Amino acid sequence: MNDFLLVQMIAAERLQTIHESKHTVLSELKNSLAGVSGEQRTAALLNRELDLTGDSVLLRDVNIPYKDGTVQIDLLLVHSECICVLEVKNMIGDFYFDTVNYQFHRVVDGRREGMRNPEAQVHRAIKAVNGFLGVPVHGVIVLTSRSGKVIEAPKLYPVVSLDYLPFHLEKLANRSELFDVAKLTSKLEKLPPQNFSKSWLMRHQIGFDSLRLGVTCPTCRTCSLIWQGRKWHCAACGFCSRNAHEVTLQEYALLYGRELDTRLAYQLLGVENKYVLYRLLEKSAPKSQKRGKRQIVENRELLRDYFSRVYR
Ligand SMILES: [Zn+2]
Repeated sequence: MNDFLLVQMIAAERLQTIHESKHTVLSELKNSLAGVSGEQRTAALLNRELDLTGDSVLLRDVNIPYKDGTVQIDLLLVHSECICVLEVKNMIGDFYFDTVNYQFHRVVDGRREGMRNPEAQVHRAIKAVNGFLGVPVHGVIVLTSRSGKVIEAPKLYPVVSLDYLPFHLEKLANRSELFDVAKLTSKLEKLPPQNFSKSWLMRHQIGFDSLRLGVTCPTCRTCSLIWQGRKWHCAACGFCSRNAHEVTLQEYALLYGRELDTRLAYQLLGVENKYVLYRLLEKSAPKSQKRGKRQIVENRELLRDYFSRVYR
């Protein structure tokens, strides 16, 4: 779970139902989850079945500088005989790669849906990797769902089913040793991680005010807990906990940064009593140098744990 996926999960859980982006946020999250599951299955299959001699490394979620920005690559195979960009599509439907004007659409249940062209994505990714590493690069579109079928095939890059992918890659790598895998991998691993969360939140106009505030009940997920008798309680399901607010603080830090205004903290946790607030913030959001500000101690693992229970 990278930060961007976590941001989408938090927004899906907290964005008010009446917010105009709610529907888009939910459907984007659904696509991201499908994408991640496709990538995981691809990586697992390759780790199990890819039969290549020599060094090979499969990198996930690589962001390569390109023109004024970066290109995000789901999976990149770095092997001593071939470098290959894998554009993984975990989609169902009939796929049409229009080879005249390079548009792409799929048909699901009789509905036509235009989408980003995977060929164009592979093309940009190849150019970016080629420019950054200075080596020739292959590209392939991988279909991970058995309920996806190509009706009109792409012209520039091959599209293969997941089952066939290991053989496709093995065929690419049947020449002599060309690359220093360790050197290329280390160059790629030094690239700074990209944070798309801010621009995504802005694009969907998700400000602090558009969220349901309070400490979310991890069982109900749609309501907030009440602090009573030194514990958090859910009026709907009876859940109780002493430290449920820790997740809330981590959610805030990921969306809006580590600095937390004390006045916002009251709203965020849904408490009114100063001493209660101070006690709740004591360990994970200690006072900072700035007056009236707290500094949240980041703990991504806590968020990952919380959401991996939700999206099992
Ligand atoms: Zn509950």
